[in-house]
Amino acid sequence: MTFKELGIIEPILKALTAEGYTTPTPIQEKSIPILLKGKDLLGCAQTGTGKTAAFSIPIIQQLVMDRESNPQQRKIRTLVVTPTRELAIQIGENFTSYSRFTGIKNTVIFGGIKQGRQTDALRKGVDVLIATPGRLLDLMNQGFISLRDIKYAVLDEADQMLDMGFIHDIKKIIAKLPENRQSLFFSATMPPAIVELSKKILGDFERVTIKPQQATAEKVEQGVYFVTKKNKPSLLIHLLEKDPNDSALVFSRTKHGANKIVKQLAKADIKADAIHGNKSQNARQKALGDFKDGELKVLIATDIAARGIDVEELSLVINYDLPNVPETYVHRIGRTGRASASGVALSFCDAEERPYLKDIQKLINQQVPVIADHPYVDDGSEEIPLVEKKHHNNRQKPRTGHSNPRGGRNNNHSRNRNNRPKRD
Ligand code: AMP
Repeated sequence: MTFKELGIIEPILKALTAEGYTTPTPIQEKSIPILLKGKDLLGCAQTGTGKTAAFSIPIIQQLVMDRESNPQQRKIRTLVVTPTRELAIQIGENFTSYSRFTGIKNTVIFGGIKQGRQTDALRKGVDVLIATPGRLLDLMNQGFISLRDIKYAVLDEADQMLDMGFIHDIKKIIAKLPENRQSLFFSATMPPAIVELSKKILGDFERVTIKPQQATAEKVEQGVYFVTKKNKPSLLIHLLEKDPNDSALVFSRTKHGANKIVKQLAKADIKADAIHGNKSQNARQKALGDFKDGELKVLIATDIAARGIDVEELSLVINYDLPNVPETYVHRIGRTGRASASGVALSFCDAEERPYLKDIQKLINQQVPVIADHPYVDDGSEEIPLVEKKHHNNRQKPRTGHSNPRGGRNNNHSRNRNNRPKRD
């Protein structure tokens, strides 16, 4: 299947070729025909699947068609609501890329910065508005934005918006949308509250599901290190020093933890920066920009801050802490192995995190191969002089020589898999 066969018009095809996209991803192949028919869509998919292009390409195409049949003054005809500023910026960049030969214009609005530039852009006129919920409502209340001309409405990462407490804002926004519109609703998970919310926005819809295991198992090579909490910094330094030129995104469960990792790496002369909610908007954008440009090789992120991160050539994701919500693991490892690229996701798992690993393996329906060949293996012995014995009864012995369920490869994972020495 090609984009041309999906009926995409020439100016967009030209932009996709310039982006280097040769074939549509599964979600694009499934969603584009539904959306070009004008139907509503419920997309159950995470980032990393090509979801943004799956909705932005057909929307741009319809905006071009609408304009041809009814040339009029530029009005906001598409609204995309998304939970974080990083994600909003990312979506804006996607729209800009795919619409560059069409004359369709977009702008992005989000909180945490002054509104002047955003309202200036709105005054000049845009076809597509990408917004986080709080700033959108704020500018609507101030009279800078009207939703009355919206024909295409997208709610992106709905489960995350719910987690972040945006539900009331979302309901207020939905209430202002005109009846006659096409609605798109995307969520990585579908708990009952999300299904309920989807009913408020969708009319007669079709559903497209891209399962997490399709996204993870096929493209991302995974591995887990059993390591004590105390040895996690040393193991991280060990891995980062192996391939200093590769970009690594390191996940920390907490903001405090993220700052601590930056300091520990600094002591080993590894430059890293952290992005999380306590950092200013400018500091976050700067760190993210440096990371995308390749100037900063190691970025430490909390889950929410990492939502919008899309970095080409991101070869490695490290879960310094395992998340207690298994879906979060899928989101995290989706940062690498984007669309057609392949990537590696390595996880550190201490004794307390073993149950989380179990939940993750259940969700992705596969065993994450254990990497036993490293200098900081948690074999339980290390803590004997320090820790009360009772822990040992619960601790699973690390497996050695565990076979990789994907077959073919030895258990000596690293991002530089082929060159890595067997042991240091
Ligand atoms: P998303 O799931 O929207 O966050 O997209 C994941 C990544 O895949 C982004 O870096 C896109 O630029 C890239 N991408 C989207 N569609 C394609 C495609 N058909 N071929 C190659 N890369 C793509």
